[in-house]
Amino acid sequence: RPRIGVLAVQGDVREHRAALESSGATATPVRRPEELAEVDALVIPGGESTTIDKLTRTFGLRDPLRSRIADGMPVYGSCAGMILLADRILDGHRDQQTLGGLDITVRRNAFGRQVDSHECDLEVRGVEGGPVRAVFIRAPWVEEWGDGVEVLAAVGAKGETRPVVVRQGPLLATSFHPEVTGDHRVHRLFVAMAGPA
Ligand code: GLN
Repeated sequence: RPRIGVLAVQGDVREHRAALESSGATATPVRRPEELAEVDALVIPGGESTTIDKLTRTFGLRDPLRSRIADGMPVYGSCAGMILLADRILDGHRDQQTLGGLDITVRRNAFGRQVDSHECDLEVRGVEGGPVRAVFIRAPWVEEWGDGVEVLAAVGAKGETRPVVVRQGPLLATSFHPEVTGDHRVHRLFVAMAGPA
């Protein structure tokens, strides 16, 4: 079983651990650089990207995270985690930094502040067996993306295509929260990316 860490400074860590464990991985919380060093891959959960950014810096995790990402560690970011993986951010909080790695520009709270959360069924490339129930909670979308980025799912908004699932090599990101639905196919896709069972 691949050993997959869940960045556990803030956000819905427990749900991701459960989804990973039932998808064939061993899931462990990561709060310290020594814990990061022991995992094969990492999930950055949803939560509040500004808080996760601040706390990773406080806990001395920012540089180790950036160097593991640069070394090709598989990372899956959901919602706030997508924001943290993005190279560029729109509507970020003042001083907000990302870890980067994904050649995308994300817009925070893109669906509008009045629409706190919504759901839809989405076909996701690479996920077999019908659409995935996508739960969006103050979600970002991808507004620009580089040639190396595969768009695995998108939604239409105001006549534009807005990617909500993207992959670039070992990095995967979703705008929505598959960990809350009990459908673990997105986690299984990531566990497969993380290496042999
Ligand atoms: N709006 C949050 C942020 O900017 C993300 C919300 C979420 O992760 N559900 O970090």
